[in-house]
Amino acid sequence: MELNFIDKIGAKTQNLLNKINIFSIEDLLTYYPYRYNVIKFINIDEANETETCYVLATVLSTVKVAYIKRNFNRLSFVASNNNKTFNVTIFNRAFLKKNLTVNREVVLIGKYNHLKNTFTASDIKFNMESERIEPIYHLTEGLKNSSLETYISNALKLNVSIPDYIPDMYNEKYNLLSKSDAIRLIHQPSTITDIKKSELKLIYEELFIYMFKINYLKQLNKRATGIKKIFDINVLEEFLNNLSFRLTPDQETAIKDILHDLKSESRMNRLVLGDVGSGKTVVAIVAILANYLSGYQSAFMAPTEILAKQHYESIKNYFSSYDINIALLTGSLTKKAKEKLYNEINDGKVDIVIGTHALLNEGVTFANLGLVITDEQHRFGVNQRNLLQNKGIKKEADVLYLSATPIPRTYALTIYGDLDLSQIRTKPNTRKEIITKVVEEKNIREVLLAMLEELKKGHQIFVVSPLIEQNDELDLNSVNLLKEKLNTAFNEKVPIEILHGKLKQKEKDELMLKFQKGEIKILISTTVIEVGIDIPNASMMVIFNAERFGLATLHQLRGRVGRSDIQSYCYLVTKVTDNERLKVMESSNDGFYISEKDFEQRGQGDLFGVKQSGDMTFKIANFKRDYKILLQAKIDSENYLANALFKGNSLYENLIEKINFLD
Ligand code: ADP
Ligand code: MG
Repeated sequence: MELNFIDKIGAKTQNLLNKINIFSIEDLLTYYPYRYNVIKFINIDEANETETCYVLATVLSTVKVAYIKRNFNRLSFVASNNNKTFNVTIFNRAFLKKNLTVNREVVLIGKYNHLKNTFTASDIKFNMESERIEPIYHLTEGLKNSSLETYISNALKLNVSIPDYIPDMYNEKYNLLSKSDAIRLIHQPSTITDIKKSELKLIYEELFIYMFKINYLKQLNKRATGIKKIFDINVLEEFLNNLSFRLTPDQETAIKDILHDLKSESRMNRLVLGDVGSGKTVVAIVAILANYLSGYQSAFMAPTEILAKQHYESIKNYFSSYDINIALLTGSLTKKAKEKLYNEINDGKVDIVIGTHALLNEGVTFANLGLVITDEQHRFGVNQRNLLQNKGIKKEADVLYLSATPIPRTYALTIYGDLDLSQIRTKPNTRKEIITKVVEEKNIREVLLAMLEELKKGHQIFVVSPLIEQNDELDLNSVNLLKEKLNTAFNEKVPIEILHGKLKQKEKDELMLKFQKGEIKILISTTVIEVGIDIPNASMMVIFNAERFGLATLHQLRGRVGRSDIQSYCYLVTKVTDNERLKVMESSNDGFYISEKDFEQRGQGDLFGVKQSGDMTFKIANFKRDYKILLQAKIDSENYLANALFKGNSLYENLIEKINFLD
């Protein structure tokens, strides 16, 4: 249902809501708070300096405003609560002066210092009726939390029905709230129990749907027949013998798994899980060679153009002494070049085509596709997983996914339950361990000196500073400031550029290319750097505010360096050095170990890139935090499917349609 059915929502508000991906009433109602403020009025005597509290107070004096600097002022007055008189100060709210009249009742939100008898407020409210639980939402510029609350409240009044995907039997078994109650209470809870109960329902539902899809796919995959590939193993061995390195044991096992799949009658559906730098590419290349020897074409899809180009170059290199036709298909080809390539692919002149999403274009048809490989699979997501072999491409093609998400095996078996799994844990031992150091922000000089050392050696550096969605502008400023500071530190002599999320894809690609060519020496990035890109000459990663990142992200970021035989470094700059996560990073370079630690610590946070993938971004569930619920949802959905209880239920028929893998 359209947003304009809701009271108080006009065109302007609709635009604002669109910005946070709310396009319908359903979207609005399922836009959940990410936290709550429990508003409980307390007496000033109970207030303290460490916890934000709410105090109902009466203004006693007139208000003074001191203008300290441009854009900086302090407002102060005397107030009373529970027969006690105290001072109140608040910064940058000079505009409140006219409202703060003597004898007015206000709610002070902030912290109280007993010694100074001063309440430092972060906010002052005038019309807060009573104690309550206030939902807090992610916002966008121009949209206030209280307005969003009102819109949602008005939407709730319309009693729009939102489907409940949980089968009745499980709703009853777990005594879950109805969907409509859950939606209402998640936005308007009266008690903490309301929050817990509504969360449970909504989390379980999301995970149930997810596991339903996975289990459904698993059934389909089991039944899928493929092409029995026939190839000469001697040619493969010769290829491997001519490599400049020896395979690691895990690479060997993964290759064995894949060759077995290729030879078998059923279709391969395999995921190779390995940390960055574990050498997944060569595993894929052996698969491509076997497929080629069997007389079939291969398609290799990468998430970005740069990555596709990189693979193209290296595959050409690997096969330089073979008579194999290799092509690169990306969005930036001219129309004419594209058409020519389409024809060659269609005629079977091209043996291997490497590309981006452009491979999914309807114009691309293969003469005899036998193998599809998706690199950095975690960037694509479940619903896109099988797109490639369903888009005008032979559905018997074997499928191989590569993913740099080193997650614990039991866990991978659940969330990737529809796929067979090969793990690459061992890393090529030619690599030097990255030296990681946690540095307190005030000792930044140490980091700058280390950076200078690397620059002198002609090496390049990544600098990362976190970006909070709420404050894009602010963070961009802070990144600009960082650039200025670095320019000052290095006498403007070092080419420094900023890569941030607001740039167009083309601009980002250009910057990465310049960095790859060595024209940029320091690349500052606000956002996660293109996954998988290889800059062998980059020897240092400096992460500011490192404590704000999860282990998964930190590890992925660190993986951008140490991609050649030069010694690499990672500096984690932080205000809080006593941080468990940062210590784990200091102590290990092993992604699987780190992910296990991450898993032990549970709690919020994305798990090794998993969150990045399209439809795995849940609205409320979190794989890691809600692991127990996930396991339950796995069992329940398996039973539900095994007994085909969903048959004839239009909800699930629709869901299956959406799964997109029917043929
Ligand atoms: P990723 O798993 O991150 O995709 P790559 O496949 O890009 O890693 O491999 C990283 C680098 O390691 C490449 O330069 C590759 O040639 C090299 N490499 C792969 N396997 C081995 C090995 N067994 N011994 C030494 N170097 C290897
Ligand atoms: Mg790779």
